[in-house]
Amino acid sequence: MSEKIEYPYLPEDRSIDYVYKGNIFMFFASILARQHSLDKTILVAAVIVKDYQVIGWGANGSDYHTNNQCQRVVLGCKTGEGYELCEGCHPKNHSEAKAIKDVQSRGLLDARGADLYLWGHWWCCKSCWDAMIEAGIRDVYLLDRSYILFNKNHPDNIVERQFK
Ligand SMILES: [Zn+2]
Ligand SMILES: [Zn+2]
Repeated sequence: MSEKIEYPYLPEDRSIDYVYKGNIFMFFASILARQHSLDKTILVAAVIVKDYQVIGWGANGSDYHTNNQCQRVVLGCKTGEGYELCEGCHPKNHSEAKAIKDVQSRGLLDARGADLYLWGHWWCCKSCWDAMIEAGIRDVYLLDRSYILFNKNHPDNIVERQFK
């Protein structure tokens, strides 16, 4: 990808790679997002892949927003800021963190040297990057054109009609 994407956050020594939607792991992540995300608008899922096998996955969200107003909205937080201020938005509910936890919950497996495929979002927050680096995740893959499709501020985004 030649176009320079301005991510809200990216560790200095890291980059993000892209795959097309025919990629089997990205396709799997899209199904998981559709079926398991608890977020009403931004449906996201991550799969962690090692030696061509899925060793863990996670879909974003919590049911907090069903009965409670988002504290980030109340406080007027900007995109990418204040996640820890809202129980529903807390980084522990992000797909990447949940996928890493899923791998770790399986006991024998570990995520060192594995890759993470993220569908439904166009960047990863600092908390998730910290968790991925600590877990030893090698490369992060997003769907081609994610910064258009899943970016609410881009005129051609597909947020709220991801599956239509
Ligand atoms: Zn919230
Ligand atoms: Zn995150």
